[in-house]
Amino acid sequence: KPLVFSGVQPTGNLHLGNYLGAIRKFVALQDQHDCIFCVVDMHSITAQLVHEDLKGQTRSIAAAFIASGIDPVKHIVFNQSAVPGHAELAWIFNCVARIGWMNRMTQFKDKAGKDRENASLGLLAYPSLMAADILLYRATHVPVGEDQKQHLELTRDIAQKFNIDFSDRIRAAGLGVEMMVGEEKVSGFFPMTEPLIEGPAPRVMSLRDGSKKMSKSDPSDLSRINLTDDADTIAKKIRKAKTDPAPLPETVEELEGRPEAQNLVGIYAALSDRTRKDVIDEYAGQQFSVFKPALVDLAVNVLEPVSREMHRLMDDPSHIDAILKDGSARANAIAAKTMADVREIIGFV
Ligand code: ATP
Ligand code: MG
Repeated sequence: KPLVFSGVQPTGNLHLGNYLGAIRKFVALQDQHDCIFCVVDMHSITAQLVHEDLKGQTRSIAAAFIASGIDPVKHIVFNQSAVPGHAELAWIFNCVARIGWMNRMTQFKDKAGKDRENASLGLLAYPSLMAADILLYRATHVPVGEDQKQHLELTRDIAQKFNIDFSDRIRAAGLGVEMMVGEEKVSGFFPMTEPLIEGPAPRVMSLRDGSKKMSKSDPSDLSRINLTDDADTIAKKIRKAKTDPAPLPETVEELEGRPEAQNLVGIYAALSDRTRKDVIDEYAGQQFSVFKPALVDLAVNVLEPVSREMHRLMDDPSHIDAILKDGSARANAIAAKTMADVREIIGFV
């Protein structure tokens, strides 16, 4: 049965990239699927150990989920550290994954910077914890931004190695599903998770530099639209967004090689649930002086209600805490069953 899982780190202000690459997709998926949405607080200490207000950040991500329209009664909304299975399974996956796999991760290289020896061990092992987040629930589909594609591939590698290495035990315990791995028939315990990356804005770029992803950690606040920005701030940031001097082209193909134009068109399409072709058909030949104000109106219309509801929810943290507590208990019930099976498969008494 399909199961959707995804997570967002409480590492700072949520931005339009997080919203379009992840949260808006969660909302779209929830009508058709069972979903688990996690505030991954244990990931947030990998790059920076001490946070000024981790509790507040965690609550604000949960508030953003709910303000965006996620139903925490029908689905599960919780924080990672409240379910011990994440850390337990991550340890096992640390022993499944190879050091070479981790060293190849571009997010590690980016976040560790030049002084790699001095990065936390947790930052290197991050993808192992992420695989545990997903596979603890044996989730089949993971909606994420394009930047997480490599980590999802690693999650499949971990699942596959576990399935192959323990195939006989999994079969003997009656816990597996027969699946083909190349020529070999194995009894698999973990599913091969599919990333859900598609859409018009899988990688929202910085408004100041079309070659960098929009990010919480960019020192320039003008580079991103925060979910909590007011209408004037959104207008200012879009007005100042970098573009080239040409008008919008007649076809989507002609956006190639124009990263800033491509980015703004992708954002417009994602915010209005249209394709980039639709948007280009409407604005073909128009100047950015026409397109940008339309984008401002659209962004404000979509984001303002989310931001308002987030603020309202944050006024009463006990309500958010109750949602997280209920979600954690329900997540833990699923996780505990998976961990009991994993202990049996490995041979822990
Ligand atoms: P950090 O810099 O702390 O890693 P982040 O902005 O990358 O912060 P995450 O919590 O790591 O946020 O990611 C949450 C989700 O948002 C993930 O699914 C990720 O792929 C997605 N995401 C992050 N940035 C973008 C972006 N610029 N465009 C599209 N999706 C994005
Ligand atoms: Mg990230």
